[in-house]
Amino acid sequence: MFRRNLFRGGAHLPHLKTTADHPTVVMPPPNKVIIPLLQHMGVICEPTVQEGDFVQVGQIIGDSHKAMAAPVHSSVSGTVTNVDFQLWAGGIQVLTVEIETDGLQTPLKTLVPPTITNKAEFLAAVRVSGLVGLGGAGFPAHVKLSPPPGAKIDTLIINAAECEPYITSDYREILENSSNLLGGIQLLMRQLGLSRCIIGIEDNKPAAIAELKKVCGRAKGVSVMPLPTRYPQGAEKMLIWATTRRSVPTGKFPSDVNVIVMNVTSVSFLAEFAKTGMPLVKKKVTVAGPCVAHPQNVEVRIGTPLKDVFAFAGGFSSQPRKVIMGGPMMGVAQHSLETAVVKHTNALLAFGSEDGELPEASACIRCGRCSDACPMSLLPLELHRAALRNNLEDLSKYGTMACMECGCCSFVCPSKIHLVQAIRLGKTQLRIAAARTLARAEGAAK
Ligand code: SF4
Ligand code: SF4
Repeated sequence: MFRRNLFRGGAHLPHLKTTADHPTVVMPPPNKVIIPLLQHMGVICEPTVQEGDFVQVGQIIGDSHKAMAAPVHSSVSGTVTNVDFQLWAGGIQVLTVEIETDGLQTPLKTLVPPTITNKAEFLAAVRVSGLVGLGGAGFPAHVKLSPPPGAKIDTLIINAAECEPYITSDYREILENSSNLLGGIQLLMRQLGLSRCIIGIEDNKPAAIAELKKVCGRAKGVSVMPLPTRYPQGAEKMLIWATTRRSVPTGKFPSDVNVIVMNVTSVSFLAEFAKTGMPLVKKKVTVAGPCVAHPQNVEVRIGTPLKDVFAFAGGFSSQPRKVIMGGPMMGVAQHSLETAVVKHTNALLAFGSEDGELPEASACIRCGRCSDACPMSLLPLELHRAALRNNLEDLSKYGTMACMECGCCSFVCPSKIHLVQAIRLGKTQLRIAAARTLARAEGAAK
């Protein structure tokens, strides 16, 4: 039986939102930005600049003719000093543009607010803006806003849940830019022909709820829905269930249940872009964790090296063991502070050895807590076993690819078994197997 607006499973996490009451501080541009040409889910962009070129703020430095891509822009004015492959988190080599800033922040002269008189112009403008899902997923926004023909979208859901510990960048966006948020919502509703919008937000954020009700809640068709605070309330499927009681089947998309979900900061950015024509070149980032001297939200230029962001936040109060981009549950550990803030970076967290080390696992006591906590109704222990044995049949049978890597199973496991890490491995095994099958099929067809 579901409690009101509460999905199955999940976990109660400590909030640790120590930066919630600190207004965002704007960081000056760094001496050098490092901008990867893959900052979205999809295909990598081709560079449109080369070493020695002078670029201005908002100038395109990478783009692709493929649908699943978003253009990448320079966040500073200055000189391109390098275009080459670099190692990014997750062990992937990505073509990356380095730009030495001239300190002038000269905007590209040709940038003007986009002309938006119909849906086609709107979608083209969203693409030009370079927007991707800013909640962490990095899905190209123009693709998300173009559901397949036949989809009968009737509701826009704004994701303001921000359910991971520490992160408060969306929260600060609501408090500091609520009029932009309303402008973005109205722009989306008008251009997509929608009459209903629900803003879903966890009920542990009373100040943001009050602000949303004051600024957005009185607009036609817009409602603010406080939701129980339970991780992962902000996961797309959980949020859709909580706000509309619609369940997205495995392998399906929000458009299959007639909704579009947009992150709150993404929507706010759209309104700003419509006013100024300045594409996505900066990002609000929560800089926190036990090792950060002065935890705060910082507005940074995309491409700012992590070491510069931490230095701006007062440096480290103690030596970090692990630095994570994103939240402690779903974020990605960084191998170096020489990597940089990208479009969907919402937090940079630094942990000492107490929180940064993986605990040693002991034997499974078959308590079943991992299955109870799984919001996708999976059997994490079976997935773990199948992955460790590279058992492709079981990995498929138990629905490995449906795992959204929320980490609830690992969090609740009393034996500290590294469940989610093994499941990620299992997903990679399945992807490799699928790629091999495809390659064999293509070879046979020649
Ligand atoms: S199996 Fe996947 S979806 Fe289920 S709790 Fe574990 S990480 Fe989350
Ligand atoms: S929560 Fe941990 S100990 Fe309990 S059944 Fe799952 S893997 Fe085993």
